[in-house]
Amino acid sequence: MTTKIEFYRHQLGDEEAGSWRQVLDTLFLTLGPQVAAFERELGEYLVRGRDAAETPDGAQPPHVVGTTSCSMGLLMALRALDVRPGDEVITTPMTFAATSNAILHAGATPRLVDVEPATGLIDPDAARAAVGPRTVGLLPVHLYGQLADMKALRALADRHSLFIVEDSAHGIEMERDGVRPAQLSDACVFSFYATKNVTCGDGGAIATREARIAERLRRLRNHGVSKAATERHGATYQHWDLVELGYKANLTDLDAALLRPQLPRVELKRSLRERIARRYESALRELVGDLRSPPPSGCRVPWLVEARGRSSHHLFTVHVRPGQRDAMLAKLGAAGVGTAVNYRAIHLLTYLGEMLGMRRGALPIAEEIGDRTISLPLYPTLTADEQDRVVSAFAHAWRELTAGG
Ligand SMILES: *Cc1c(COP(=O)(O)O)cnc(C)c1O
Repeated sequence: MTTKIEFYRHQLGDEEAGSWRQVLDTLFLTLGPQVAAFERELGEYLVRGRDAAETPDGAQPPHVVGTTSCSMGLLMALRALDVRPGDEVITTPMTFAATSNAILHAGATPRLVDVEPATGLIDPDAARAAVGPRTVGLLPVHLYGQLADMKALRALADRHSLFIVEDSAHGIEMERDGVRPAQLSDACVFSFYATKNVTCGDGGAIATREARIAERLRRLRNHGVSKAATERHGATYQHWDLVELGYKANLTDLDAALLRPQLPRVELKRSLRERIARRYESALRELVGDLRSPPPSGCRVPWLVEARGRSSHHLFTVHVRPGQRDAMLAKLGAAGVGTAVNYRAIHLLTYLGEMLGMRRGALPIAEEIGDRTISLPLYPTLTADEQDRVVSAFAHAWRELTAGG
């Protein structure tokens, strides 16, 4: 029995451990100077791009607010944008439940629209058709690491005075049409959950170009209290006030200490991920031919490496033949290959289906992708040897199912 190839392994090591250990010798374990430094560094990364030479003249880094998770970040971003009960926010069914849960927690209704067949990203035309009198905003998800069509979405938002909150849980690294995360939105939310490209186990951040929104977010992550502990830390005691109903949802200095050493390595790791994605693509092309083929017979890799735009390569996803996905998952599992499904269309999940009154047939493209998608292991420390085993397990399963059906 060979060892299992994990779906994901984090890459935190000595540098992160050392940075974390140093915080234990300081005064602030939670919201303190490490969080502030991480927020500044992430903001700089978001405008700097791949290298310093790229920084557009006069581009100001966005404000960044560290939080406990992308889920909380999405909720707080919607609250900071004054989303209220009765409001509708247009979003995608091809995402994790956190996206629509945040809208529901804010008291609003997620209006799910269908996705583009080739990418699984929210379809700007479908979003346009769904705008109604109660629509207040758009919540695109940068699925698998590819930026949604932010230019089209921004134009739509401007036409109807809508806000945009980006769910950028799948990376900080992407770029498309010269646009990067946080550039064209009102708020952009990142995840540092255990399987994400940059991680501290659980954590998140919100980037916004509006100082007013950032200030509100800083208050919302601290119960709605007027002054954070670090601001109150002085020679004499200072009173604080509660000015609105917030949450306990700040990033901590211990987490920020784990995150900071990862930022300088983000680009290197992205290129390692891209190399692995290319190897998967060429192996799959050998097996099935065209990777863009539509159903029913084909196999599709959304947004190939050569396609327009720069992916964070968070997930390597294959849309296999209809009806064969679960059998493929079983065969890969039996061969010791870790897999995931990102995602089954969320309106088919029990609670959301009932809550939104949606059934199968409502969003056919998302449903079709949700029935066919498999994510394969993709992380910088996946060895060529391990990848070869994944590919051969996939090829074996594919041939068996093709012969059998
Ligand atoms: C992981 C993920 C989230 C939630 O992130 P947390 O930090 O775990 O709250 C939200 N949206 C998408 C698309 C995700 O993949």
